[in-house]
Amino acid sequence: MGMGGPHAGFFATTDKHKRKMPGRLIGASKDRLGDKAYRLALQTREQHIRRQKATSNICTAQALLANMSAMYAVYHGPEGLKKIAQKVIATKQMFVQTLLSYGWPAELIKEGHFDTVRVGFSSEEALKKYTNDKTFSVERFTEADGKYWASFSFDETTSFDIVSDLVKNLTQKGGPGGVELQNLNLNIAAVIENSATKLQKNDELCKIPEALVRKTPFLEQPVFNTHHSETEMLRYIHHLQSKDLSLAHSMIPLGSCTMKLNATSEMITLNSPTLANMHPLQAADTYGAFSKMVADLEGLLSKTTGFAGCSIQPNSGAQGEFTGLRMIRNYLKSIGQGQRDTLLIPVSAHGTNPASATMVGFKVQSVKCDPKTGNLDIADLKAKAEKLGDKLAGAMITYPSTYGVFEPAIKDAIKIVHDNGGQVYMDGANMNAQIGLTSPGYLGADVCHLNLHKTFCIPHGGGGPGVGPVGVAKHLVPFLPSHDGPFVGRADAPKTIGPVSSAPLGSASILPISYSYIRMMGSRGLTHATEVGLLNANYMAKRLSEHYDILYTNENGRCAHEFILDPRPLKESAGIEAVDIAKRLMDYGFHAPTMSWPVVGTLMIEPTESESKEEMDRYCDALIQIREEIREIEEGKQSKEVNMLKMAPHPMKDLLKGEEEWKGRGYSREQAAYPLPYLKEKKFWPSVARVNDAYGDTNLFCTCDPMPQEGDVPAEH
Ligand SMILES: *Cc1c(COP(=O)(O)O)cnc(C)c1O
Repeated sequence: MGMGGPHAGFFATTDKHKRKMPGRLIGASKDRLGDKAYRLALQTREQHIRRQKATSNICTAQALLANMSAMYAVYHGPEGLKKIAQKVIATKQMFVQTLLSYGWPAELIKEGHFDTVRVGFSSEEALKKYTNDKTFSVERFTEADGKYWASFSFDETTSFDIVSDLVKNLTQKGGPGGVELQNLNLNIAAVIENSATKLQKNDELCKIPEALVRKTPFLEQPVFNTHHSETEMLRYIHHLQSKDLSLAHSMIPLGSCTMKLNATSEMITLNSPTLANMHPLQAADTYGAFSKMVADLEGLLSKTTGFAGCSIQPNSGAQGEFTGLRMIRNYLKSIGQGQRDTLLIPVSAHGTNPASATMVGFKVQSVKCDPKTGNLDIADLKAKAEKLGDKLAGAMITYPSTYGVFEPAIKDAIKIVHDNGGQVYMDGANMNAQIGLTSPGYLGADVCHLNLHKTFCIPHGGGGPGVGPVGVAKHLVPFLPSHDGPFVGRADAPKTIGPVSSAPLGSASILPISYSYIRMMGSRGLTHATEVGLLNANYMAKRLSEHYDILYTNENGRCAHEFILDPRPLKESAGIEAVDIAKRLMDYGFHAPTMSWPVVGTLMIEPTESESKEEMDRYCDALIQIREEIREIEEGKQSKEVNMLKMAPHPMKDLLKGEEEWKGRGYSREQAAYPLPYLKEKKFWPSVARVNDAYGDTNLFCTCDPMPQEGDVPAEH
């Protein structure tokens, strides 16, 4: 439960709608050698990239949790899941039969078909006598048919001990009221034993009504029918992991995604069973120190952003945007400015910005950027803000800009929006370049979101979970999200926008990661991290600028925490594009930088403060060596069609091709696999060759194989 989050939600759709789905789809395709390869499908059509035409703003989702659920299904398979369901029903029945043995009236026990029972009391006093006891936190009550009901659900982890404690507690606190319970001095162990025998003899008790029983098979794919012992499961997970290049192997300089160290010391609290098993709706006074930590964290984040208030409820950056923009909308309405319905968003903005704006009901107008510097075109902003007049709701601005530069005119931009009656939303995903040096509040913005899964050390988990807190200036504090749950409060705040997540504390259980980070770093440490992050980016930019074009820098030739490397001229000279460099980096044991965002055809590099000079040099060496390989194409020493970049990556199966087949390559196997000396010691082998994106997108196929036919070779092996 993890106090309510993070959790994965799934949905499925008919074939007709699959290309409109939000989030990321994994689809099957082929690699260069014709073998099956799975990949993110339809990436270029990912919803938020469609800006204001998007039907969702999802960027970060719950990929890690989706994997956990998937592994549960892989391990248990269809038969195992059915057994688990039967066990849950049996446990519920055990509870019911034991209560009956004590004489609890049958009409005061109402069973659902599956895991839930309602237990009735004849009066509110009788119910209170039981529920005021904090041995169990019972939080689900209803009043129906003149009786008072408490609700219980069981799962496969509910032990007989818990069942017996529950029954003991219920019966010894005076029972349902109005009825003398018999046999109060019965030995509970004996009663449980009896119930078990009864259930064994009478299997009708654990049956699901015939009309509800599923008759069709499910989870027929081989993956759900193979790995059913713990050893097999371990090996399967490890096998998948071995294909995965992570921060444990090398730096992942994904610009704008801030892939920094996720320290074990920060994540250790995730192992705490207390935290793992807390329920989001348990009684507020059972939260213990957790509520104090959350309040403290919100305070620290307010301070960091220079704002008056903060809410950790949103589950991602994009949801933070949604939350912040709703606050702006409600605020404008509250001051009689509800007609302000248009947001100005620069063309350089992250796609979630216009997508979130549209979800909240705003119209969107784009603001130009200077093609030379990448800076916001202040004249365009001013003209559009003035033209909109009392239709201007505000602007969404990213600082440093998504081009990785501290815009010199940021304060002017904010003033223009304010002078024209709008609010300023600052996208705080680039907070890693601000902490301790400046802040959205200091600059004059009204709202911002943070990405705790970027700047504040929560691992990205392949795309989530995340936390996207919103910080707000004083006039927006009354609008912060609320929750009816027992803890967050603010439910009685008349101006709140209401909840944005059904768990009061959003992705609660991962909050201690960011909290530990901030507390261990302290304000000096955090500021130092920002400075080193800026220094690292400038170091790499400088070294690489002798070999590649760097797209945007300020008037001193400096970047902020990230920079854009521009290989577009190489298309002309060598037929090489960003994607070829990205794929070739795999042969060097590296993940590519962010590709084609925010500028199509470029690579954006963000080293973060976590990387050592040695690792950054290794990455630069790889990119520089790749530039030399491109030079060979430019000089005609390698063909434009078949060369080390176009053929990259080179998995082992490719290198094992016979002499005849290899001959046409024009480069050696050695050059393909070990272009730099460090690779002899430290090589990460790609598991597939270049994947055919077009094939995968036109033949979108998002489910695993059905059971293999005789003679088929399973795809994974
Ligand atoms: C990552 C990012 C977002 C979206 O955050 P998610 O948590 O992925 O939804 C928004 N804006 C910018 C600039 C980002 O880099």
